[in-house]
Amino acid sequence: MLSLYLHIPFCQRKCPYCDFNTYAGKEARYAAFAGALAADLEQEGERRGRPTAPTVFIGGGTPTVLEPGQLERVFAGIRRGFALLPEAEITSEANPGTVDQGRFEMLRRLGANRLSMGVQSFDEAELGFLGRIHDAAAPAAAVALARSAGFDNVNLDLIYGLPGQRPGTWLATLKRAIDLGPEHLSLYSLVVEDGTPLAAWVAQGQVAAPDPDLAADLYEMACEQLAAAGYHHYEISNWARGALDTEELPAFACRHNLVYWRNQSYLGFGPGAHSSAGGRRWSVGRSVEGYIRSVQAGAAAVDFEEEIPALLAMGETMMLGLRLLGAGVSRAGFRARFGVDVADVYPDELAGLQRRGLIEVNDERVRLTPQGWLLGNRVFAEFLPEAS
Ligand code: SF4
Repeated sequence: MLSLYLHIPFCQRKCPYCDFNTYAGKEARYAAFAGALAADLEQEGERRGRPTAPTVFIGGGTPTVLEPGQLERVFAGIRRGFALLPEAEITSEANPGTVDQGRFEMLRRLGANRLSMGVQSFDEAELGFLGRIHDAAAPAAAVALARSAGFDNVNLDLIYGLPGQRPGTWLATLKRAIDLGPEHLSLYSLVVEDGTPLAAWVAQGQVAAPDPDLAADLYEMACEQLAAAGYHHYEISNWARGALDTEELPAFACRHNLVYWRNQSYLGFGPGAHSSAGGRRWSVGRSVEGYIRSVQAGAAAVDFEEEIPALLAMGETMMLGLRLLGAGVSRAGFRARFGVDVADVYPDELAGLQRRGLIEVNDERVRLTPQGWLLGNRVFAEFLPEAS
């Protein structure tokens, strides 16, 4: 089983805080790119014997800038290269500023069954600061369009911890988001990424750096609001509706992202996309033109590749799995994969973290305690080989 990530490296305009590999003003290359992506999927799938894909995530970038015919081409590439499970989760990201009925209906017809929308805020001033192309009314219209096209699994992304953000505006954003009834919410604190316009503004003193204490307060506020609205907090930054399964995951948990959190195998397609499978990880070069050329010549050009030694794979499995607040790291899953029990690999780390009240260990799983949620990074570091 190999999950698929497709990177669409285009946006209508580049947001000043964003360091993703995405470009504005390349409309003339959309068609060539969609053709190259489809060919890459087909060629790579064929090389691997047309593996089964349980999930597909089309992200970027803004997949919904592509024309319906271009999206059609990409989906044809997926289906030629890979056998999609009948119940496969197929997500497309969408920007509320670049959607219309036709695109949503086309995505549904092609098989997409989950939409993830970058809303970020419902406050006009915050949207202006973030350089978003849509206003505060656009998300409601986009969700209504998605529903009428037949999407019954919708995620909204929100950003908190903007410099000087008032708790009242964050509360209002949370309430507007909850009122739209999404099945899933992803909340990210604003990070100043090197090389972005935001980083230059902060360095020049034009904008204050985000305050981690404020971000922690806003995060706690979100935890309370979303719990009261019936969302399960199943991952540090993610909430979803639906009954909990035996692993304490809600029915609308993002199955594609669970592949990452469980440190399972996935293939990435498109410029800058990362892959991890068969004990190796690699990434494709970031240039759009380079990507198109290399696929036309037979295979996407890999610019980084490494083996993942077993101890590192175990540490990453702990680090990623502990992000799942209810499910944590399954001890049976760990044993099945590595042939050894978690407690035999990390006896001192587990004992120390338990003493500090940051993790809980039982026969089935290892997971963070509520006290450990806010100190997650310190807990994760204990399991990486460099820290031991
Ligand atoms: S729309 Fe999303 S991917 Fe595109 S520049 Fe803005 S934050 Fe980045």
